[in-house]
Amino acid sequence: LNFQLTILGTSAAVPYKNRGLAAQVLEVHNRLFLVDCGDATQFRMHTHGIKLSKIEAIFISHLHGDHCFGLPAVLTTLAMQGRTAPMHIFAPKGLKRMIDTIFEVSNYVSPYPIYIEEFDENWFAQPESGFKTTIYENKQLRVRAFPLMHRIPTCGYVFEEKQAPRNIIAERIAQYDIPHTAISGIKNGENFTTKEGFVIENEALTRAPNKPRSFAYASDTRYSAAIIPHILGVDLLFHEATFMHNMAEHAAFSGHSTAQEAATIAQLASAKRLIIGHFSARYTDLSPLLLEAKAVFENTELADDFTTYFVEKS
Ligand SMILES: [Zn+2]
Ligand SMILES: [Zn+2]
Repeated sequence: LNFQLTILGTSAAVPYKNRGLAAQVLEVHNRLFLVDCGDATQFRMHTHGIKLSKIEAIFISHLHGDHCFGLPAVLTTLAMQGRTAPMHIFAPKGLKRMIDTIFEVSNYVSPYPIYIEEFDENWFAQPESGFKTTIYENKQLRVRAFPLMHRIPTCGYVFEEKQAPRNIIAERIAQYDIPHTAISGIKNGENFTTKEGFVIENEALTRAPNKPRSFAYASDTRYSAAIIPHILGVDLLFHEATFMHNMAEHAAFSGHSTAQEAATIAQLASAKRLIIGHFSARYTDLSPLLLEAKAVFENTELADDFTTYFVEKS
């Protein structure tokens, strides 16, 4: 069962050469989740062979155009493809007004339900613990949101695979004559009592499942240690790195991070792996940003348009 991230755009603010605007597709057990939706997202998905129709939910970090101006186009194309399933969208407050206004002036009514759940001022003002709640879940996955520090209200997201039940060892079923009615309890950790009254410990009947995998998305944001508790131990962290550290002052002023700062966050959060992206168009060659990040956090990679990053089972 897969857990993989495909990056469709790595450029900040404006498209640059072969770098598109922010959009990523997270695929978990063959189900797709769109994270940010800069303009041309639907076209970039199409050319890369990712089926728009398979998107289950959409997570928008903030309402700057480079992260969401592709959304009305995605939503209307889905309608033309005959979508009937509801679409759930998460975003800071304002997205609903944006989409409603666009649809209204276009005299457009969506044929399938669109539910936009917004994070308002109260949500952003909540104490730390308030952000631990799940905002979205299905059988395989749960999603949490947390606040970033940008020029307008901005959310990061953490996608966590749910813990799978324990794997039953097939030979034990015959060995202890385990009825199928007892299987689900055993997978969930119960012991088994044989007809003769012997208790067989769960560890003797099952193997531990794979560890749940996780992905965190942090863009756009200036350096903020406050996000660390939300992303602790994450397998894959995408953190923006718009600038190099010689522009740290400008980065902080404009609500962005440097490569060194992104790496520091990954280091402090004990992330397993870091992808940096959202690059300023001032950088044609990105290798200095990679070097700068790697000096702090070795397991760093550059985000690359149309590249898929796999998180393997462990
Ligand atoms: Zn941006
Ligand atoms: Zn922004």
